Amino acid sequence: MSLTNSPVPSASNEAARRFVYDFDHPHDAAPMSLKFLLGGKGANLAEMTSVLGLPVPPGFTISTTACRAYLRHGWPLSLGHEINQAVSRLESRMGRHFGDDSDPLLVSVRSGAQFSMPGMMDTVLNLGLNDASVEALVARSGDARFAYDSYARFIAMYGRIVLGIDHAHFNEHLRRAMADEGVATEGALSAEANLALAAQYRSVVQTHCGRAFPQDPRQQLHEAIEAIFTSWNGARAHAFRDREGIDHELGTAANVQAMVFGNRDETSGTGVAFTRNPSTGEALAFGDFMVNAQGEDVVAGTSITRPLVDLDDLFPIVAKELSDVFARLESHYRDMCDIEFTVEQNRLWMLQTRPGMRTGAAALRMAVDMVDDPAILLTRAEAVSRITGDHLDQVLHPTFDPSTEVEVVARGLAASPGAAVGRAYFDAPSAVAATQRGESIVLIRAETSPDDVAGMLVAEGVITARGGLVSHAAVVARGWGKPAVVGVSELVVDARSARLGDITITEGDWVSLDGSAGHVVLGRVELASSTAPAELEVILSWADEIRAGHLGVRANADTASDALAARQRGAEGIGLCRTEHMFLGPDRLPVVRAMILANTDEEYHDALARLLEVQRADFVAILEAMDALPVTVRLLDPPLHEFLPDLDALVVKEATLGLDDDETRLLAAARYWHEQNPMLGVRGVRLGVLKPGLYAMQVRALLEAAQLRLAAGGDPRVEIMIPLTISAPELALARSWVIEASEYVARHYPVPLHFSVGTMIETPRAALLAHQIAAHADFFSFGTNDLTQMTFGFSRDDVEGKLMAPYLEQGLLEHNPFDVLDAEGVGELVSLGVRRGRSTNPHLKIGICGEHGGDPTSIATLYRCGVDYVSCSPYRIPVARLAAAQAVLAGGRNAGPEDSSPSHQE
Ligand code: PEP
Ligand code: MG
Repeated sequence: MSLTNSPVPSASNEAARRFVYDFDHPHDAAPMSLKFLLGGKGANLAEMTSVLGLPVPPGFTISTTACRAYLRHGWPLSLGHEINQAVSRLESRMGRHFGDDSDPLLVSVRSGAQFSMPGMMDTVLNLGLNDASVEALVARSGDARFAYDSYARFIAMYGRIVLGIDHAHFNEHLRRAMADEGVATEGALSAEANLALAAQYRSVVQTHCGRAFPQDPRQQLHEAIEAIFTSWNGARAHAFRDREGIDHELGTAANVQAMVFGNRDETSGTGVAFTRNPSTGEALAFGDFMVNAQGEDVVAGTSITRPLVDLDDLFPIVAKELSDVFARLESHYRDMCDIEFTVEQNRLWMLQTRPGMRTGAAALRMAVDMVDDPAILLTRAEAVSRITGDHLDQVLHPTFDPSTEVEVVARGLAASPGAAVGRAYFDAPSAVAATQRGESIVLIRAETSPDDVAGMLVAEGVITARGGLVSHAAVVARGWGKPAVVGVSELVVDARSARLGDITITEGDWVSLDGSAGHVVLGRVELASSTAPAELEVILSWADEIRAGHLGVRANADTASDALAARQRGAEGIGLCRTEHMFLGPDRLPVVRAMILANTDEEYHDALARLLEVQRADFVAILEAMDALPVTVRLLDPPLHEFLPDLDALVVKEATLGLDDDETRLLAAARYWHEQNPMLGVRGVRLGVLKPGLYAMQVRALLEAAQLRLAAGGDPRVEIMIPLTISAPELALARSWVIEASEYVARHYPVPLHFSVGTMIETPRAALLAHQIAAHADFFSFGTNDLTQMTFGFSRDDVEGKLMAPYLEQGLLEHNPFDVLDAEGVGELVSLGVRRGRSTNPHLKIGICGEHGGDPTSIATLYRCGVDYVSCSPYRIPVARLAAAQAVLAGGRNAGPEDSSPSHQE
């Protein structure tokens, strides 16, 4: 049906200032702008009524425009008039009048924002009843129990929801009434008991509000609508919007609908249903209903409900009608719907519908099934768009068993997804020893450092008191697919125990963590294991089709086993191999230290030669694992002190126990390399400048490894990456080291080897001067961790501790910029760097390898900035493949060279 007479004003045309729309108002607005105007519930009620012709009790929607106007300037002048007119239309349609003392019109009032949103005012039923009209309802229905029950429920709901009275005050009376009559359900109370309850509820209102329960239905309606509008700014609604990134300016609509009565008698009832199973995705309707009950009873879970299939026996005609409705809703919305219905004396009424919430497994199954479903015929692109990163997290990682109640004792940052359970250990050696005894362990540290990797490796999960989303613990845990919660600020970690307020966690105690939510729980929580359904691969293959040639997905992998894990998950190469991690193994650290401590050229070159051996072996294994795919190897990046023992610990030891010769030299080196701001110090390519030969050794190791692979019939694709570049001359110098080392290697092998040389863009200066730097680069990879750190001036290792939470709470930042790429600032630098880089070198390949490469929102931003691929930890690859496809579908890419770049102006 096409309804075009008097279309809904466009979302932007608020000047039209129409606030109220009947459910059957003519409309031709696209579903999204209808939702913007009328909220999800209002838009769906309008569609069910006008487009689908389903049995919906008539009513009207007060638009989100009215709410926005109300929140800015108070109750709009014309709104009362429009509502009165809509009420009159409803009255004439129903043949009943508001407050009528012979046949009253009763309505339900519900909020409904554009996006489904818990935390706002829910439903008030039976509005319009008062002391007089309830008697009319008794007379009309011939059923005093039903009428007084409706009135009592109304007063309690109104008191609780509109007037803000704690429900316990009403429940106290209800419980007593049920006990007095010896009945188990509210619906079984006698007429007299309900009448008495109504009176008791009115006095609860009088006591708590200092005024009588309003008898005028128009006042009731006005107050209910105001309560809905005000609830938009309630604390829970606000917090929910913050979490979901929903605009605080949108406002909510209010829906006023003629009442139908599921509590009318035994031929009546109310229910909630899904058109498919929301847990498994099976194409079978699923739900609950109750006979002789109203609205909230089913969802409140306080009464005994019956499964939807029982409708077949109890209300066979309704059951058949309902299944037809399900089919029509699904083919109209082309999705699984969640509905609320009421049966009044064997007649079916639809109260609302919306796309239903679903588990990750169900989402995958439904999306795939609906592509083949002739009534829906979803396209592959639509199917891919229906899946979220959260859905994938659910099927890829274990979660807390949803049927288990957990008490969260502390919260931190959700640093690496999945849930884990184990016994608490507080240092790497005890953690390793415990796992050797067969225990499952959770490593709890104040923060982690390279010294902790052995403990992290054996841990089921990791918890730290300090550190942010790009801290060592977070990056390493994510790389290994271990659940982690970091930055649990109230956690105080000692040698053999940790404290959380009054709670002490002692070595060996069971703890559980949910790294997807950032939750810490004491004891052993049952886990629901992750078994990825078969549909996962189908959806990911469709995602790959969509993004092919547009946005690649690579992995950050430092070892052959990481590389294999990444490849199995669909990585198209390595975007970042951090070579420093190869320096940290127990057999390598002493050699690295020997290099740092070398007093003579001979000692220095001897240490480099030993490092070359081990690096070459590592590279052979990585190149083999990623055979025929690009492998970007970053030359050494971190400040050298990271390879030395802790300076403070050495100083203390010197003052107390004394130091041996080696330790004395280590102390001198630690003092020499110590910096106040090591992340802004001697690291990246600066190390290459200060430690000549270091990068040449790494390049030799890599190219010799590649030659060995070639000789073995492999197809190594090597990309050599210089970190932390700040200028063209600096990169030119570094490139010359690489070329020189490659020429040396080439002299020893018969087959020429192709490789490329590029740089990370991690400093704002490098992004700004990308056109100059690109003259010496075959590729760029944006290191958005450092770029974020340097753009904001936020230390990536410290900012979470004190600063981030207040900044987020006060709305000074929308997101933690280490979590979600800051599109306005850092994104602008990326975009600029891409355009300027390509203005010099149109073939410049550009990737990103900061932690943002695994975050769906950031991936969308980065695609728009024009990068060719994202690189993320191996276990985020499926999420990145999906998000990359969704980014491509969303479009908006800007990849062209910047005509106005300085290189063109010069
Ligand atoms: C970055 O800075 O984004 C990056 C990938 O490098 P790292 O995290 O190793 O500094
Ligand atoms: Mg970096």
